[in-house]
Amino acid sequence: LRNLGDKQLRQFHNELQELKGALRVFCRIRPMNKRERENHDTIAVEMLDPFTVALDKTATDRQVFAYDTIFPESSTQAEVFAECRSMVQSVIDGYNVTVFTYGQTGAGKTWTLYGSGSEPGISPRICEEIFNFVQRDSEKLDFSVKASMIELYCAELRDLLNKAKDHPKLEFKGYRQADGSVGQRLEGMTEVPVASSSDLAQVVSQGLGSRKVRATAMNADSSRSHFLLIITMEMTDKETGRSRTGKISIVDLAGSERLGKSGVSGEGQKEAIEINKSLTALGDVMMAFTQKAKVIPYRNSKLTQLMQDSLGGTAKTLMFVNISPSSSNVDESISSLKYASRARCIENDVQTNNGAGKKAAAAARK
Ligand code: ADP
Ligand code: MG
Repeated sequence: LRNLGDKQLRQFHNELQELKGALRVFCRIRPMNKRERENHDTIAVEMLDPFTVALDKTATDRQVFAYDTIFPESSTQAEVFAECRSMVQSVIDGYNVTVFTYGQTGAGKTWTLYGSGSEPGISPRICEEIFNFVQRDSEKLDFSVKASMIELYCAELRDLLNKAKDHPKLEFKGYRQADGSVGQRLEGMTEVPVASSSDLAQVVSQGLGSRKVRATAMNADSSRSHFLLIITMEMTDKETGRSRTGKISIVDLAGSERLGKSGVSGEGQKEAIEINKSLTALGDVMMAFTQKAKVIPYRNSKLTQLMQDSLGGTAKTLMFVNISPSSSNVDESISSLKYASRARCIENDVQTNNGAGKKAAAAARK
């Protein structure tokens, strides 16, 4: 690879991406938490190979799911990022890329995307990688990098980087895309120019902080809102003056346990309905584009409208489905995996009557 020229490398990279497909689904299993251990939960999830995971719903009901990669409990943040790294090259090449995490509250979505100071997740690593590329290509290209942060709570869009107290409401506006189709753009969204990875990290931490403050004020915790970090890059060739734009959206979705839930009343009900609507719409959009449907139903929710130019078409999408390993969460985990399989149009394999032995083996490993 080292002997290949830039052009060949890029071609190689793109062919590799092509092979990987426009939508990839990764499943990450988190370690058991304290509550699950104290609860004497058993392990109900078993990674059969790097692409296959089995869940024991009951002693006799084992369900098997296949994805592009399974990350077991022992996976490190660096190992997970290694599988996402190529997305940054795609942004530089002018693609729109989406990375999002799906799963019940506490399954590890925010951990996967943001992590901690000593164990940073995908998002801070992507930010760093972006500026590695900026430095690498700075002789040939001029870069302009901008960040936006949006929270979607109960069909209301909040601009987390707008410091003004009574800033205008964000609304969608249609625009003509390069290929002639109509895209949706958020009018009035704050875009902060950033010049370095530490600049970007600072902006992101400001947005994250603002998410928390507003969440408390509105009595909404992070599990009830969708949270998007959007990084836009414009690359201009210094010689030819030609420019291209790429974009990466990093989306921390609301907890999926609210999907299908009704019976709660008041504010909770409104939230559940909105989350339901948006997660269902997202699943429908992904299914439509994996099936190569003529019409992609972006219009069904603000979430899919917001992600419209980064889902389907020539965009590349990476979905994480985060799950708990525990028996007490197995129903929620299966429901998350089914959602991911439906989006990817993968038939899952339900095995019955042969789960008992493997379950005992998994429990013994604990
Ligand atoms: P979510 O965002 O899906 O609601 P979090 O990412 O906040 O869940 O994870 C819940 C808790 O579990 C956090 O305290 C987080 O630190 C921990 N956690 C999640 N995944 C992992 C992991 N792979 N390794 C270590 N700790 C994890
Ligand atoms: Mg979270």
